[in-house]
Amino acid sequence: MEPQTPAVGILTLNDWGNSITYRVVCQCSDQNHNHDVWIEAEDTGVSVITYTQQKSKWWESSRWKIIWTLLTQGYIEYEASIVMSEQQTVNYANTLLTAIEDVKKFKEDHAKSV
Ligand SMILES: [Zn+2]
Repeated sequence: MEPQTPAVGILTLNDWGNSITYRVVCQCSDQNHNHDVWIEAEDTGVSVITYTQQKSKWWESSRWKIIWTLLTQGYIEYEASIVMSEQQTVNYANTLLTAIEDVKKFKEDHAKSV
C-alpha cells in the first residue's frame, strides 16, 4: 500500500518551516479522539509531540465516584483511542518520515543563511 498525497485522515494544520503540525483523525468521526502531532526541528534535533484533548463525560459516570477518586488519588484517568485504517496508518507513517526530513532541512538551510 502506497502513502497518499493528500493523505486521507492526516490534515495539515500549520507549517512554519521548522515546525509542522498535523491533525490525525479518528475513523469513528468522534472529534474527541483526534490527536495533533507537532514535528519540530530544534537545536538538539527533531522532536515529535502528540496532543490529545480529552473531555470527560461527567454525566455518563458517577460524579461522586469521580470526585472521590480525585480526592483520594489526586488524579482521574481518561482514555482516548484513535482508530486508523490501513491506508491512514501508511499515510501517518509516511507523513512523520517526510515531515522529519522537511523540518530538518529547513532548520539546516536557515542556519546557513543566518
Ligand atoms: Zn474514535
